[in-house]
Amino acid sequence: MKIFKFLFFLFFIISWIIPSTAVFGQSENPEYPVYIVQPGDTINLIAIKFNVSATDIIAANNITDPNLLSVSTPLVIPGIKGVSGVLTYKAVSIGENPDSLARIYQIPKDVIFRLNQTTSPSEFYIGSNVILVESPENSYQQSSLSSGDSLFERSILENASFWETTILNQVDNPWAILPKETFILPIGTNNDNQTNVEFIGLPLTQGKSAVINVNSMSQDLSGRVGNLELKFFSNNSQQSSIFGIHAMLPAGLYPFHLEFKNNLDQNVVIDQLILIQQGFYPQDPPLQVDPSTLDESLTKPEDDLIFQVTSPFTTEQLWSGVFNYPVDEPVCIKSWFGNRRSYNDQPYNRFHTGVDFGVCANLNIYAPADGKVVFTDSLLTRGNATLIDHGLGVYSGFWHQETILVEEGQFVKAGDLIGTIGNTGRSTGPHLHWELLVNGIQVDPLPWLETVFP
Ligand SMILES: [Zn+2]
Repeated sequence: MKIFKFLFFLFFIISWIIPSTAVFGQSENPEYPVYIVQPGDTINLIAIKFNVSATDIIAANNITDPNLLSVSTPLVIPGIKGVSGVLTYKAVSIGENPDSLARIYQIPKDVIFRLNQTTSPSEFYIGSNVILVESPENSYQQSSLSSGDSLFERSILENASFWETTILNQVDNPWAILPKETFILPIGTNNDNQTNVEFIGLPLTQGKSAVINVNSMSQDLSGRVGNLELKFFSNNSQQSSIFGIHAMLPAGLYPFHLEFKNNLDQNVVIDQLILIQQGFYPQDPPLQVDPSTLDESLTKPEDDLIFQVTSPFTTEQLWSGVFNYPVDEPVCIKSWFGNRRSYNDQPYNRFHTGVDFGVCANLNIYAPADGKVVFTDSLLTRGNATLIDHGLGVYSGFWHQETILVEEGQFVKAGDLIGTIGNTGRSTGPHLHWELLVNGIQVDPLPWLETVFP
């Protein structure tokens, strides 16, 4: 009888559990994430962003008029099940990958892959935009490991509880996080040993300038973006490099490499892909010029000479703040930097290496920033030319001048009169061509009028 009673009891228990679990399973609401409407958004744009249908968004949010979409409206995004919270966009920065993003945002890695419709970690390159879910509360801070460092050692060094750190980072052993990967620490821990590496000017763009800052004074600091060797200089308590992306470098992903010793004297090596995006430079109308000015046997020695003059790296920064226009206002720009050019019916395989100013106020040419005059001469294609060294590998060139009013070796201040506009060299009318070189790469000078480099 005891056995019978027990079986009956067991049956009762089982019959009670099974339907209740089934009911529980049905009553579980499918969770969908929310997106906050941003300026410029439309239903169609949002649908494309998250790869869902516009009709589904309209239905899920009971939208009556899709044309009346106000900024800051929270929208449920159907189709991304099992994710709750607020969707956000983020540009991937140095040291971040799907594993570290999963830790920082406290969401499973497979959810990150689903949100971004990829399974490939290589798509998480520096500067790529990824969709993430905002963390509910920011009760932690980011850090990263150096070579030879483990999470265990770092937790102790930074006064964080090791167990709390492993739980926060969704790992079960101290070696699960690889060097340079980002992890999180409970807030309030000492993070002074962290070496920060940051880019200014992401995403890198054809023909534009950028800066990288590394808060390490390591003498062994070196780095590359693609084939470009970065030249570092001391910049307060960190080291920085100003560099330019060549205007004709094909857009795409390039290897980024950085090596230095951190403040704990440990070697840090970072290898990651970085995005270089299109500059969207238009084509200038085809130009007809004197064929001798296109003859490489004549132009190459001149190009080599300019390269040679602008090669030295002056370790002192001679300028400060933003640059000024090299001409009086009103300024009239005849041709912009980067425009693709075709000379004498050749293909569009050249680009405009500077900015052309027409004669609109007067003929005066001024130094756009402080520096030292390092070259004045008359050249075949550049005509009467002047070069100013601003320091840190930054040089200004002024071509096609009528007169040159400075001498080699002379120091000039921003706004000093240095010459007059002319029509000398390969030129089709009076204008000033102003060119800016950063470590031998011609870059668009105009952002330098608004942005303080480095
Ligand atoms: Zn020009």
